[in-house]
Amino acid sequence: MPVREPIVLIEDIKQLKRETDTAIFAHNYMDPDIIEVADYCGDSLGMALAAEQAKQKNILICSVRYTAETAAVMAPDKNIRLSHSQAICPVTGQMSAVRVRKYREDNPDVCIMASINSSLEIKAEADICADAENILRVASSVKKDKILFLPDESLGNYLKENMPEKEIEVWPGGCPVLRSVDISDIELARQKWPGVPVVVNNACRSEVRKLADFCASTGEIVEYCNKSLHEVIICDEISIHGRLYRKYPERFFRQLAPSKLICNSMRLTTLEVVERALKGEAGEQIILPFDLAESARAPLEAMIKAVSRKRKTK
Ligand code: SF4
Repeated sequence: MPVREPIVLIEDIKQLKRETDTAIFAHNYMDPDIIEVADYCGDSLGMALAAEQAKQKNILICSVRYTAETAAVMAPDKNIRLSHSQAICPVTGQMSAVRVRKYREDNPDVCIMASINSSLEIKAEADICADAENILRVASSVKKDKILFLPDESLGNYLKENMPEKEIEVWPGGCPVLRSVDISDIELARQKWPGVPVVVNNACRSEVRKLADFCASTGEIVEYCNKSLHEVIICDEISIHGRLYRKYPERFFRQLAPSKLICNSMRLTTLEVVERALKGEAGEQIILPFDLAESARAPLEAMIKAVSRKRKTK
């Protein structure tokens, strides 16, 4: 097939979506072109809730595996396909379910809270799940005084710093992309763009977060930038800058540490991959072991109950 311009490919994908009755859900970290063909764009929780409510039977998740698995748990009546079978978040391999199970045996009084960025096996061991945007709200709903938060050490530390009334335990681990940013990157950006506010993802290291003017989840960063009429330095995965730059070409969004803030797993999904996945030639149909899915559903539902608010759509 001859090489097609993105604009042509986008139209072909939209046509294919109609023919196959498929909804496309794109993670916040997808390229702007993928968001262009998506019916929904948001975080993993948002996508899982949107999958539950979608009128289409077929849903193509453009993200990494744990997002597609979470959607499959929450919407078992839908056909969930992951755009690229190798799109695996390295965080999901950082912790074993066996270790968590052993911890529970030894610490029955501790609430185990799993990040939504965890494997299905870890979720299945947890009491409740949490995402970056709602972590404080979810933790507030926990009755127990002590919480083990895993597998993201940075987000766990964020929880610890913002919820001194609870005893929070964290284990080493977390997003290698966001954790690659260090103090020198912030200092360099401040030298380059003096006086410009720096917005930092709350899954970055504590020392980096402490230097931020605004620290929040990706969804909240996008919201902040949507409202800001001024220059902003963004410390989040590089796709966020690309998306905002496309939406507001007249504004000045600056990317902090552009060579570090790239998630290779998210970048695997291109327009060509989306088209092939819609044709069933790429990606993977998500089929989960029933018992594992049921065990993971309870902590996800506990999170949704704790959050219980309307989610934003694209
Ligand atoms: Fe995983 Fe980090 Fe990539 Fe998200 S950005 S998929 S947490 S490696």
